[in-house]
Amino acid sequence: MKALRMSGVTIAISTLDLPLVHPFKIARGEERVAHSVLLRAFWHGIEGLGEASPSSRYGETVAGVIEHFATQPPLISDPYRLESILGAHMPAAARCALDIALHDLIGKHLEKPLYALLGLDPEATPATSFTIGIADPQTTLLKVAQIAHHPILKVKLGAGTDEEQIETIALIRERYRGAIRIDANEAWTPQGAQRMLTALEPYEIEFCEQPIPAGNHAALRTLRERVRIPIIADEDARVPSDLASLYGCVDGINIKLVKCGGIRPALAMIHTARALGMRVMLGCMVESAIATTAAAHLSPLVDYADLDGPFLTSADPFTGVTYDRGKLVLPNGPGLGIVEATVVA
Ligand code: MG
Repeated sequence: MKALRMSGVTIAISTLDLPLVHPFKIARGEERVAHSVLLRAFWHGIEGLGEASPSSRYGETVAGVIEHFATQPPLISDPYRLESILGAHMPAAARCALDIALHDLIGKHLEKPLYALLGLDPEATPATSFTIGIADPQTTLLKVAQIAHHPILKVKLGAGTDEEQIETIALIRERYRGAIRIDANEAWTPQGAQRMLTALEPYEIEFCEQPIPAGNHAALRTLRERVRIPIIADEDARVPSDLASLYGCVDGINIKLVKCGGIRPALAMIHTARALGMRVMLGCMVESAIATTAAAHLSPLVDYADLDGPFLTSADPFTGVTYDRGKLVLPNGPGLGIVEATVVA
């Protein structure tokens, strides 16, 4: 770990490798170990924890985040000046790690949980979906059987033929009575998406995330007019300034902290989406409990949560948000309320 000296707040950056419970496959590719950046911020004997799991989809990498802090270490004399510190030009993933760590630090300094600093009711959290990656029908059904008690599934689609994808949903629906959400991760064409979403209508799909490649709002608008399943923009809704042009084209947006740059831009996106009458979902990457718990603290503000990061990894050194039959249970400790496992040498 490399410590970066600064006046006031000191930060230390390291990589965090998270082995996955199952290889995780979506339309874009497959991974077995997730890589993340851990940021520790130190100030007056207090440690704030931050994390970013950058996505190549948005041109960001773990190495890029580490390089950013090595070459442009932020000078932070007072961590409470969040607007000035985080308003500086910074790639979204780096900003996300710093933003989360400073919120954790401030919460610990004030001895208040993050949800309380944000004025939120910790009882008002939604239930999270549990994500099922792309797999053959047998593996998919095995996973569904293992989590049949869970109230919401999110099924990744976008690989295989139309018939195979429809068959997957039909098989799941035969056995599972909870809510089913689907995510095509940009894999369908506009015409294909219309065909698929029409064919999937009988299976009571709650909504579909990002059916077509980002950047084609006109096609999203047309699709939304022609199908009944609500459309949620994910790859199309990266930062707050993306939302105005999505107005009327989608039913809602999926916010992720690493995509937009942390808690503060996520709040801006939530309020902008509400002003535009959009539904709001809060998602995560494959990441440790640090980033997922940070998002969970915002979840009383949203309609849908997809914050299942901690279910997907097998050796997370951090514990934070827990689940009561899927409902997010926020930790009561100060800041994020994360507990780090002590490593026994
Ligand atoms: Mg998505």
